Amino acid sequence: MMNDQWIKVRRDLHQIPEIGFKEFKTQEYLLTYIQSLPQQNLTVEKWRTGLFVFVEGKKGEKTVAYRTDIDGLPIKEETGFEFASHHEGYMHACGHDFHMTIALGALTEMVNQPPEQNVLFIFQPAEEGPGGAELMLESDLMKKYNPSSIFALHIDPKLPVGTVSSKPGLLFANTSELFIDFKGKGGHAAYPHETKDMIMAASAFNVQLQQVVSRMRDPLKPAVVTLGKMEAGTVQNIIAEHARVEGTIRTIHPDSMDLIKQGIERILKGIETRFDCQTSVDYGANYYMVHNDAEQVEKFKDVIDNSDISYQDAPEAMTGEDFGYFLKGIPGFMFWLGVDSPYGLHHNQLNPKEEAIEVGIEAVTKMIYSES
Ligand SMILES: [Zn+2]
Ligand SMILES: [Zn+2]
Repeated sequence: MMNDQWIKVRRDLHQIPEIGFKEFKTQEYLLTYIQSLPQQNLTVEKWRTGLFVFVEGKKGEKTVAYRTDIDGLPIKEETGFEFASHHEGYMHACGHDFHMTIALGALTEMVNQPPEQNVLFIFQPAEEGPGGAELMLESDLMKKYNPSSIFALHIDPKLPVGTVSSKPGLLFANTSELFIDFKGKGGHAAYPHETKDMIMAASAFNVQLQQVVSRMRDPLKPAVVTLGKMEAGTVQNIIAEHARVEGTIRTIHPDSMDLIKQGIERILKGIETRFDCQTSVDYGANYYMVHNDAEQVEKFKDVIDNSDISYQDAPEAMTGEDFGYFLKGIPGFMFWLGVDSPYGLHHNQLNPKEEAIEVGIEAVTKMIYSES
């Protein structure tokens, strides 16, 4: 019965996916719902397109934060759901509609049955980019509420419903996007000596780039650099004046990220000299690693062991998650919630099982109530 209400909320939110810092309808929907709750122990404050919702606890000696992301992705939905996205070309393909619904469910329980300690619900915009966590962490509202711990969940399509997983220490890697432009001089394919060929420059860069990982980084500190896109030139008989490469950097240690970026810039200096060209580099969206506090994960495990939900140890992954910035400033953890979908995250047919919403609400509320 209870779950029907949350399925409706999830489907409403699923229909209005919006991207980073454009979550206007989403914010409105969340506000309307939250304002329909009894307000006596609530303080609701807008932060850009997100929200801070403070629930006063009975003792109120400290504040536990729970964070949900609220943005969708620029992906054309192909699920065929009757409640599919109304926003053409946009989809909640990373389960943030689930995350928001679970946060609203937990918030509702906190209003109906106030916890001992205060709770700060954070509705974070722009998780997928350009990144809202770091800005929220540095905001005056965050300083005002000053939570002593923070946690969050993410749906996991590969885990069965009824299961959660986490691990102490590193869960997600440090990640950075990578965009590089090479600007030279075009010309006739038969007169290369009068040109600066940017296909040559970009190719040379790609080959040297892989040596950053194999020769500059400590072999005991894993890292990946991948170029996923290369674009250059116009037709077969004109030497390319411009080239652009796009890629991503992933590391387990924050210091290897800095090292790799320095390495890239050194290679680019060499490319500029050798090919007599100009280059520019843009690191796009960056995520700080998600590093879970061991004590909190242990506590969460105990909470879950005393419920019908099962707990699994999670592997670490080279994926990124904006939540890492919160953990840079506040001890806490993130866990995976099993939703058993045949299609993965960011897939246009992602189909998480809605029974998992109740499991998520239970895991989150039990964790909050365990603060005595
Ligand atoms: Zn995502
Ligand atoms: Zn996500």
